Amino acid sequence: MKTFEELGIAPKIWSAIQEMGFEQPMPVQEEVIPQMLANTRDIIALAQTGTGKTAAFGLPVIQKTDTKLKAPQTLILSPTRELCLQIAGDLIDYSKNIDDIKILPVYGGSSINSQIKALKRGVHVIVATPGRLIDLINRNTVSLDNVHSIVLDEADEMLQMGFTDSIDEILSHVPDTRSMLLFSATMPKEIEKITRKYMKTPMEIIIGRKNEGAQNVSHSYYMVNARDKYLALKRVVDYYPNIYGIVFCRTRKETQEIADQLMNDGYNADTIHGDLSQAQRDLVMGKFRNRNLQILVATDVAARGIDVDDITHVINYGLPDEFEVYAHRSGRTGRVGKTGASISIIHLRERGKVKQIEKMINKKFEHKQLPKGDDICEKQLFNFVDQLEKVKVNDEEISRLLPSIFKKLDWLQKEDVIKRIVSLEFNRLIEYYQAAEEIEEPTDRGSRSDRDDRSARSDRGRDRDRRRDGGRDEGPRRAERGYTRFFINLGTMDGANPGSLMGFINDYVPGKVRIGRIDLMKNFSFFEVPEESTRQVLGSFNDVFIEGRKLVVEVAGESSNNEKRNSRPKTGKKPSYSSPKKGRRR
Ligand code: AMP
Repeated sequence: MKTFEELGIAPKIWSAIQEMGFEQPMPVQEEVIPQMLANTRDIIALAQTGTGKTAAFGLPVIQKTDTKLKAPQTLILSPTRELCLQIAGDLIDYSKNIDDIKILPVYGGSSINSQIKALKRGVHVIVATPGRLIDLINRNTVSLDNVHSIVLDEADEMLQMGFTDSIDEILSHVPDTRSMLLFSATMPKEIEKITRKYMKTPMEIIIGRKNEGAQNVSHSYYMVNARDKYLALKRVVDYYPNIYGIVFCRTRKETQEIADQLMNDGYNADTIHGDLSQAQRDLVMGKFRNRNLQILVATDVAARGIDVDDITHVINYGLPDEFEVYAHRSGRTGRVGKTGASISIIHLRERGKVKQIEKMINKKFEHKQLPKGDDICEKQLFNFVDQLEKVKVNDEEISRLLPSIFKKLDWLQKEDVIKRIVSLEFNRLIEYYQAAEEIEEPTDRGSRSDRDDRSARSDRGRDRDRRRDGGRDEGPRRAERGYTRFFINLGTMDGANPGSLMGFINDYVPGKVRIGRIDLMKNFSFFEVPEESTRQVLGSFNDVFIEGRKLVVEVAGESSNNEKRNSRPKTGKKPSYSSPKKGRRR
């Protein structure tokens, strides 16, 4: 293995990175640095995030900068503002011993005027997101005539985010003689196209194998029914008490919902997705980076800029459609030589996707069984005991109070004190898992579609209700923890199915109410909503009539008389409720 000096890195840069703790070059640096310093024209480097690629291009870029020429000489394009800032920050660190070098990040969402002023003062290296750079080019505030090197970082992400035209446009302002370095974690067809278009017989550097996930990331999955997905997520998170992870969801809505649920359930979680303002996203990212947040729930797009080391787990709340997206997600963990885990919580129908991804990354997924309540409690307990052993005791601060505490607890044996401390911490968790039903893995039979899944649930729900009620039909059951169970006098006789019932409820209840379990009966049904939505739901159905019949929605088990429950007129006529317009909104 060569040293940085042997790769040709100048002493001023070498001393700066030494201070940053870089002792030996990482493989991508060993490959890329000498090529860039030797002015190899075009290079494609396939490397995941976390492999040290920023220094691989950043160090030669700085070394090749002529600080006397007051004009942009290198242009680095990044898909997101976060990555842009990260790269610029790293380059500034590498060049701290070089006088007069100017590195400027330009990105959307911040004042364009201050960026224009900085450009006027003279800049050598521009790190830009494509949109903002085009804006500056169109305002004639930046000239790219002296640019000799272009770096496209996370090129696959840029193409996925629809920046192909912007890259075309930017490159049309740069001299043809420039060299280009393209970094990508994966090699989709579109990247091959771009390399054919812009590069002349590029040199290909592959760190790891093409389309391979990071070596030190394990891949596993849990298979659950759609309705159990969130409960399964909680189990996974509970099973890893020291998790520092990202939960990836498919849509903004789902991302927000899952984050809300986790926060409601007392987890140290928050979310980033496209519906949040930049300021909100920055705040959350700041908390996550500082480890004040244990779980970040994110969409793929919002997570693009996340460049955080030490992430222990990536959880896929469902699998993405494209392999590239999976590679990016799992590449967030197992960085800088650490191990990481990419865990997927999937539905039966996603098994095919697992097979496809296995082929692409040339690694097997482990099919795991969800941890049982007892296993989780045991793991959490031992983690707590471990912390109890290792906690740093601040003698000075507590010594004043200790005598009275000792006096108060004097009557207890050591074992009793330990039992009490542990119970204080764990009673809730133990109670929760004692009450929780174990999550069954779905079988092929019951999973033809979500609808099937839901009606299977209703059937099972009815069976369970019957069981709990000693065989009586349609008796009350307990709501899920944190939920309120409602009775509604609409059932399958009215044409209700879970989807239409959810739509109906949401149409009447202002805002968006999350609906949990639904149990459909012939003449009436039950549905559950989070406890905090109880009042909202109760207040939304007063004086609603459907084809002359008064709609009754009330908290299950609180019905004052049975008449109400059977308030469906026995006309034999099917009142259609599917269009809420037929009802009258108060
Ligand atoms: P990157 O892939 O550029 O995001 O780098 C991932 C992490 O590795 C960053 O925290 C870098 O500071 C760190 N890093 C990069 N090169 C080295 C090196 N040669 N030795 C130690 N750490 C490094």
